[in-house]
Amino acid sequence: MDGPPIENGLVRVQASQLVEVEPKRPFSEREGIEDLGEVAIVPGFLNAHTHLEFSHFEQPITPALPFTDWIGSVVRSRRGTETSPQTSLKKGFRESHLAGTVALAEIATEGWTFDSFNDPCYQGIVFREVLGFQSDRIEPGLETAETFLKSTFCNSRLRQGLSPHAPYSVHPQLFEGLMELAVRYRVPVAMHLAETKEELEFLRFGTGPFREVLERLGVWEETSFFHGKKPLDYLERLFQAVQSLVVHGNYLSPEELTFLGERRDRMAVVFCPRTHCYFEHSPYLLKAMLEKKVKVLLGTDSRASNPNLSLYEEAQLIYQSTREAEWLSAADLLNKITLEAAQVLGFQEHLGSLTPGKEASFVVIQPGGNPQEPIEAQLLAEDARIKKVMLQGKWVS
Ligand SMILES: [Zn+2]
Repeated sequence: MDGPPIENGLVRVQASQLVEVEPKRPFSEREGIEDLGEVAIVPGFLNAHTHLEFSHFEQPITPALPFTDWIGSVVRSRRGTETSPQTSLKKGFRESHLAGTVALAEIATEGWTFDSFNDPCYQGIVFREVLGFQSDRIEPGLETAETFLKSTFCNSRLRQGLSPHAPYSVHPQLFEGLMELAVRYRVPVAMHLAETKEELEFLRFGTGPFREVLERLGVWEETSFFHGKKPLDYLERLFQAVQSLVVHGNYLSPEELTFLGERRDRMAVVFCPRTHCYFEHSPYLLKAMLEKKVKVLLGTDSRASNPNLSLYEEAQLIYQSTREAEWLSAADLLNKITLEAAQVLGFQEHLGSLTPGKEASFVVIQPGGNPQEPIEAQLLAEDARIKKVMLQGKWVS
């Protein structure tokens, strides 16, 4: 990711660090060199959107549609689960590690405590999720967020962020207050935005399925709703944070994409391909986004809408569906799940590329497809697969 591929390469690992990355040289048995065969070694992946609390799900929640029903099922399953959050979180990290993901941008809900995760293998950004559409939820929501921001984590590799859930679940003043906190504490923000057409209708007119759900839950308040809004109003405010992740952005307008493209150094969109398919959305605006220079990262979202947590499979899927396209190469895609993601999420100093001095966290891939194609294409071929994963200097087993 920081230079051309090295044929017959060698990486030297000392403790948890990469100390050498270079062409293979003659070596003696005593050096403890392991020959991995005809494979490629690529940097570990960074998943830009997860909710690991659902990692114990065997399969996605059904039915997927209508979306508001799916959300309702998610909320019910959260209340009804007997699996502790810590168990799901551990399960999710483990599944991610086995799939080559070494850091993630995780949305953490109520009940999560990260105190027990005094383990440097758990790394990423923990975005504290805040919800509340009623005016009496504003104060408690802000308190929760600030308490979280004041708490200290057990290790420096878990960074903090805030996540106002979505425009239909967060009172406009609560959103405003959360953004003030994010600016004051200089933390990144992640928000689900422009995910469904129904959300656009709700923002603009205050009508549609989201209004119905809020009324059914007894939390709809006329005064909590400001008419005539659109995602751009949220984007303008999100831009105030040091970094923001716009999760999904399935129905952003051309004007909004231009806005994001012009602010690509501080704003990124997170595309979750298999979740996108699951909800049968209109085709993703990936080409339009990339043409407008929008920074796009990839995420898996959760097992509530995805069969597994493999970011690599997400990249493979996009590659299969765009492989004839000039606007997105396999190399670009690999960059999105490694170096670009590391830069956006703030982990570029120790992740994202195989650079001496960085962490020895990498993925060994058995290439597939046509051997005449560039190696990057072979790495995302349908039959390419992950053989091994090294996490901070140790093989994940
Ligand atoms: Zn999400």
